[in-house]
Amino acid sequence: MRRWAETASRVAATSRISEKVAVLAAYLQALDPAVLPIACVFLIGRPFPASDPRSAGVGWAAIRAAVERAARAQPGAFDEAYNRSSDVGRAAYELLVERDLRRGDRASGASAGEPLPSGPSLADVQAAFAAIVDARRPSTRIDRLSSLLDRLDPLSAMYVVKLLSGELRIGLRDGLLESAIARAFGRPLSAVRHAAMATGDVGQVALLARADRLAEARPALFRPLLPMLASPARDAQEIVRRLGTPLWAEDKYDGIRAQLHKRGTDVRLYSRDLHELTGQFPEIAEAARQLPWDGILDGELVAMDDRRILPFARLQRRLGRRAPGTATLEAVPAGYVAFDAIALADGVAPSDAPLADRAHTTPSPAPLPADHVTALLDTPLAERRARLEALQLSPRIVLGHLEHPNSAAELDAVFAAARARGNEGLVVKDPASGYTPGRRGLSWLKLKKALATLDCVVVGVEVGHGKRHGVLSDYTFAVRDDRPGHDGELVTLGKAYSGLTDAEIAEMTRWFEAHTLKRIGRYRLVEPAVVVEVAFDRIQRSTRHASGFALRFPRIVRLRTDKRPPEADTLSAVAALAALAD
Ligand code: AMP
Repeated sequence: MRRWAETASRVAATSRISEKVAVLAAYLQALDPAVLPIACVFLIGRPFPASDPRSAGVGWAAIRAAVERAARAQPGAFDEAYNRSSDVGRAAYELLVERDLRRGDRASGASAGEPLPSGPSLADVQAAFAAIVDARRPSTRIDRLSSLLDRLDPLSAMYVVKLLSGELRIGLRDGLLESAIARAFGRPLSAVRHAAMATGDVGQVALLARADRLAEARPALFRPLLPMLASPARDAQEIVRRLGTPLWAEDKYDGIRAQLHKRGTDVRLYSRDLHELTGQFPEIAEAARQLPWDGILDGELVAMDDRRILPFARLQRRLGRRAPGTATLEAVPAGYVAFDAIALADGVAPSDAPLADRAHTTPSPAPLPADHVTALLDTPLAERRARLEALQLSPRIVLGHLEHPNSAAELDAVFAAARARGNEGLVVKDPASGYTPGRRGLSWLKLKKALATLDCVVVGVEVGHGKRHGVLSDYTFAVRDDRPGHDGELVTLGKAYSGLTDAEIAEMTRWFEAHTLKRIGRYRLVEPAVVVEVAFDRIQRSTRHASGFALRFPRIVRLRTDKRPPEADTLSAVAALAALAD
């Protein structure tokens, strides 16, 4: 782990891409194949490979408690250290260096050239991560994390904390690691990239590159791939300009992106960040189990009643429940709208027999080898859709709506019809394009309704992260409660990272510093005088904020220096927008 941490530091220390790649390539080349995948997975900032459904899930409170215990520090020491750097890893590092200085343990500082006691290996650390994440009780999680930190030198501990908090930030995007893998093992970068897209697992790619077996990389069942993404388009004209006519316009369903993997009766659903959702949507898994094909589909989970799509707010009521009960399943029926096929088993015989008959007469297929599905990544969308249309689906697993308008005016009409069907808009695609996992290209363009914005009052601020760590750039904002008897008091609606310019943020930081009412840890309550315009994707009911609502993907668009707090938006305006979404 120590060597990995030193490599990560060297990568973080230089902004030169060529140097980062050279440092990494030399490191990867020298690694034992048994730990090569772990090193790569850590380098992209994840404790586990993408195919592992576990997420880090170690929160601030657990990290603070574990670090303070491992460092034998006073309560509150972690918050103080954090306030200096706005970086959880750095805060852990500082406290652990102090611990070692007190112990007179020079070897664990950053001093070079001294022999180091051999600390935990990468495999030990990953096993410890698993034990931490698997712990049911928060106190066990803290015990395990602090005992891991106890065994690590401060630099390694810093990176362990960064990995667990999901904030590695060493200036290393996936693409750079792919370049380093190509360099380390002397393989073409294009082959490494292709393998990375096809497997979704950078650790496996490194192993394949090392063994000169990149050509074997392909999607596998139950190893989810990052979904292909769409770029925003301003209007119909722009789409016609980019993609030409006839257009390929699919309804944009407002739900949650999900990849459906199926082999016989083994069915799993994965979210766009590769977490397993099967338990949350048992009726979809059950419906898929009945179908006579194997493969990987891409689509959207929606609230759906008798093939009618219901608003996202309905689905919202189900989210967060790991295993919904019968009442929830009945109150919010779900459906899966399939719009793409990523891999399918060859020789699937779509059956004409009614589902019920087949269920009785056909035993479920024997499990086939994992690679019996054929990847369709390089197959044009038009052909993938034809394969999808040939599959037997069901009342709960349906095909996305597709139209072929011939002009911008027709596209506008199709957009209006999609909206009338209760959908969010359209995703217009290039029928000749392949499926590129994790990439946001121009082959998929999304057209949504104009965004709503709200004018809100800033009531609290915090220091930001990354390059914004010295400035107060995270704003908590509120609207006026205009209900009778509430006197226009400000009720919080959300928190957003500032989308203001650096100069504006610097100026606002000075203002907020001078107008801080109270400091609560990292948070500053400020005089409610600044109005900002906040854009968002969606509004929903929530108990998280005092207003009783929350915004999805809020972002600060601009300062409304022309407005004073009494002119900010009201709770009834928020409620009206939410009702529209309902
Ligand atoms: P957005 O979340 O606004 O960036 O829009 C992209 C998302 O739209 C995708 O990640 C999908 O979850 C969703 N979506 C809904 N319908 C489609 C469709 N027909 N094709 C692609 N994405 C879709």
